[in-house]
Amino acid sequence: MNLIFLGPPGAGKGTQAKIIAGRFHIPHISTGDILREAVASGSELGKKVKNIMESGELVPDELMIDIVKERIEKEDCKDGFIFDGFPRTIVQANALDMMLREMDKEIEGAIYFNVAEDEVVKRISARRVCSKCGAVYNLVYSPPRIDGICDKCGGTLYQRDDDKEETVRKRYSVYMEKTVQLLDYYKKQGKLFEVDASKDIEDVKDKIMEIMEKIRGGR
Ligand code: ADP
Ligand code: AMP
Repeated sequence: MNLIFLGPPGAGKGTQAKIIAGRFHIPHISTGDILREAVASGSELGKKVKNIMESGELVPDELMIDIVKERIEKEDCKDGFIFDGFPRTIVQANALDMMLREMDKEIEGAIYFNVAEDEVVKRISARRVCSKCGAVYNLVYSPPRIDGICDKCGGTLYQRDDDKEETVRKRYSVYMEKTVQLLDYYKKQGKLFEVDASKDIEDVKDKIMEIMEKIRGGR
């Protein structure tokens, strides 16, 4: 199944994408993770995007489109994928549709995570990520068993550079300016589904599973 998880930063897209991708044995493609790995490795791409990411702005479309094109051509995407954080602009969405068409594929569903700004700011301020395996925690809602240590691999937890409150507000405003239009884009294609992402992780997961059944049934 070829899916997109859409919604503001901090809505819980990555958390759910990890769960759903694991169940359906398809890759979770987070463009934010790909870029953070590039920054951490000090590659040319990483050098180009580091400051942009820290400021909360978007990385240029052409760069993102090239990254995604290369990624979806990989063997592990043959039975589907979940995009988390891509597309983020209409230009990216059009490019994605075009590259999929060339591969004789299409997006089957765009799942919109609906949640208010104050809640995402609250969630992101308490987000911690494992530096070793990328597992995501929340100091309020889903804390690790031992402070600062990943339950899954023992790695050290850190706070993302762009998770400071003022950068989070900036990222939210960029979302409202450039990304929210995608809801209409996928609605017009009859592919938009919505979940109330203010619910707890288990409830949101159940709702997404229902949507997955609907998408599969409509094939
Ligand atoms: P996104 O990928 O949309 O930016 P994340 O999945 O990283 O969001 O979630 C943001 C933060 O909120 C993380 O700390 C995560 O543990 C927490 N979180 C995710 N889903 C929920 C939820 N349903 N309720 C409360 N906290 C959540
Ligand atoms: P995320 O992990 O999805 O919150 O993304 C973190 C940051 O990476 C964003 O604030 C952007 O600077 C950059 N980024 C990730 N995905 C994209 C994308 N599709 N288009 C442009 N910039 C992106």
